[in-house]
Amino acid sequence: MQAQPKLIDAFGRTVNYLRLSVTDRCDFRCIYCMSEEMTFMPRAQILTLEEIYQIAKAFSELGVTKLRVTGGEPLIRRNILELMNKLGGLQGVDELLMTTNGSHLDQMAQGLQQAHVKRLNISLDTLNPERFKRLTRTGDLQQVLRGIMAAKEQGFERIKLNAVILKNRNHDEVVDLVRYAVEHGFDISFIEEMPLGQVSEHSRAEAYYPSYQIREDLERHFSLSSVSDKTGGPSNYFKVDGSVSRVGFISPHSENFCSQCNRVRLTAEGRLLLCLGNEHSVDLKKIVRSHPGDRELLKQAIVEAMKIKPEKHEFNLQEKPVIFRHMSVTGG
Ligand code: SAM
Ligand code: SF4
Repeated sequence: MQAQPKLIDAFGRTVNYLRLSVTDRCDFRCIYCMSEEMTFMPRAQILTLEEIYQIAKAFSELGVTKLRVTGGEPLIRRNILELMNKLGGLQGVDELLMTTNGSHLDQMAQGLQQAHVKRLNISLDTLNPERFKRLTRTGDLQQVLRGIMAAKEQGFERIKLNAVILKNRNHDEVVDLVRYAVEHGFDISFIEEMPLGQVSEHSRAEAYYPSYQIREDLERHFSLSSVSDKTGGPSNYFKVDGSVSRVGFISPHSENFCSQCNRVRLTAEGRLLLCLGNEHSVDLKKIVRSHPGDRELLKQAIVEAMKIKPEKHEFNLQEKPVIFRHMSVTGG
């Protein structure tokens, strides 16, 4: 059998993971992700589902084995389940994952399961309805909890909750969130807020609540043991003793994880973004629109793009943001 080609960057890192943002739109306006008034991209600028599929196929032929579909809110993209089905059938892709805010999961969890989605990440920053409204601006906690339970019933291989922790907003809930995860057999990751896009609602430096502080808070209530298997992701995992749950920490500020980076991102408008914290990118939409069906050209551009993948992100909480795109455009 012919060996699969590999994507290797200038620092010797193999890229085998693609995150696809299928829309920049969302039904929520989380305070760390968006401003209250957002201008979304005109639809014509957004990749069609077929274009997304063609790009994902090219990546799979270049050795990418893991695809995560995200956004914006991926479940509000029309015909998303059709795309998921097609992505699930790509040769070489053995992990198809999604990150969602959970608001549409009560109707769509079954469709995702049938499309061979293995694992789901669901964002949940608080278990308090008023806080949930304040943090998401438009979200309804009960709706999301119903969605999470619908997903649990479908028996996905793994469900992971993602919680962005902000000082004086939800930092006092980390223990309750872990209890909820343990009760349902979910994993949970705590994420330090990243300075992506301008948000006026709060000062990011003042809202910073470091992962090591969360860990200290948790260790007063749980016994956590380090999990050695690093999956190439930015999370540092700990097992909650006496349960099946793991707690992860995504700590872009307190621990730099770039040397392990195995991923690139496709933005909703078709930019191949080589690092979340830098603007180095290649316009793949231009290629798929000017040479439709020419996958060799697309693959060539992807291989070339690896040369400009930066060594590390440049996040700095004290200065004005250097990255003006919001997480919703990038696909978190
Ligand atoms: N809408 C989906 C959701 O919320 O899960 C998927 C897209 S969202 C951009 C993906 C993840 O990014 C979420 O877990 C969210 O909490 C996280 N996120 C958004 N803005 C962030 C920021 N400024 N810093 C850190 N994480 C952020
Ligand atoms: Fe929407 Fe997800 Fe961003 Fe919240 S974090 S505004 S749910 S894209």
